[in-house]
Amino acid sequence: MKVHAYLIKYAEIAIKGKNRYLFEDALVREIRRSLGRLSDGYTVEKEQGRIYVYCPEEYEEEETREALSKVFGIVEFCPVCIYEDRGIDGTGEDVLSYMQDFHPGYSGSFKVHTRRAKKSYPLTSMEVNAFLGEKILDAFPESHVDVHEPELVLRLEIRDKIYIYSQSCKGPGGMPIGTSGKAMVLLSGGIDSPVAAYMIAKRGVTIDAVYFHAPPYTSDRARQKVVDLAAIVAQYCGKIRLHVVNFTDIQLYIYDQCPHDELTIIMRRYMMRIAEHFAAERRCLGLVTGESIGQVASQTMQSLAATDDVCTMPVYRPVIGMDKQEIVELARKIGTFDTSILPYEDCCTIFVAKHPVTKPSIKTIRHSETRLAEKIDSLVEEAIRTTEIVEVG
Ligand code: ATP
Ligand code: MG
Repeated sequence: MKVHAYLIKYAEIAIKGKNRYLFEDALVREIRRSLGRLSDGYTVEKEQGRIYVYCPEEYEEEETREALSKVFGIVEFCPVCIYEDRGIDGTGEDVLSYMQDFHPGYSGSFKVHTRRAKKSYPLTSMEVNAFLGEKILDAFPESHVDVHEPELVLRLEIRDKIYIYSQSCKGPGGMPIGTSGKAMVLLSGGIDSPVAAYMIAKRGVTIDAVYFHAPPYTSDRARQKVVDLAAIVAQYCGKIRLHVVNFTDIQLYIYDQCPHDELTIIMRRYMMRIAEHFAAERRCLGLVTGESIGQVASQTMQSLAATDDVCTMPVYRPVIGMDKQEIVELARKIGTFDTSILPYEDCCTIFVAKHPVTKPSIKTIRHSETRLAEKIDSLVEEAIRTTEIVEVG
């Protein structure tokens, strides 16, 4: 039997006091967005402190569950079957048919838990529990009641109709997108930055992104890979406005003018400057990168300090303390890994030095950058002016 609805459970957002309704509204909006990609037949309603998703007549259970499992703010969602209120005897029959469908031949421990949302219902919750418990024991003679630690809790919600559920699926947790401001993610084609985007989005942050492209050194396939990664992240966080910056001339100029062991760090500083420009334009409250301490030469604490040196906005690095293996696991879980490992060149790897500095001094780097004085401002302006915007998701 197909379920009719899903009861959405959320935790973190429920503790937000007076702001609670704002968070619930955001969650409802996000669920609508996510399911709206499948069909416009779903209705999502907030009723009496609960959020219900009502499914259309025709729908795919699998894809519905997958969509819900990607909505931040959902801790759990429970598939619910809905029956007409035909009086307690009729409900008894419905409970048995529910049990036969979802727990055929059930032989473990259980309890019935009733919640009366409709206060005019003629029986108390305890009376309903007792009545239905008896029915189940009769129909499933191997089963037994355990009110303390049952293996199965059959839940009934008495509304205008009777809602029955007993299972739950895991949601991603976190906070609904749109409740925590916006951030600009520096999104490369690698493994780390899509994971960083996911992690920051999970805290309710709306995501915009910037990608530095270096044609002809990086191919259209490398660019497409970033668009594809953004599309995967967008399944969780909604549409992403991706800024594709043509970075070639800036890179070549740095390559010509600056010491080669400082290339990566100087390039990263220009990436941050340009990203911050778009972040300000889009009213973002911070920048996000996929850096992790010590992973490569440009991610030592000294290098990170040298990149931060050019930023006025906070730089968030959600994977900063994670090992590569942990990042890879998360990338697999969220579905970005297989795309991330496609072997297309990255703009940083092409201009990378054999022996990059690992402990850059900010003073030295600033000094090296003075060699760029002649042309860099106009190159940055040009890069900003020619940036292409791609709406992804
Ligand atoms: P990733 O797997 O995210 O590419 P990485 O380990 O390869 O990270 P770097 O190449 O040093 O590390 O880049 C560090 C961070 O800088 C990235 O996580 C990303 O946020 C940003 N970044 C690097 N290259 C680009 C690019 N071409 N476009 C946008 N952001 C980039
Ligand atoms: Mg990279």
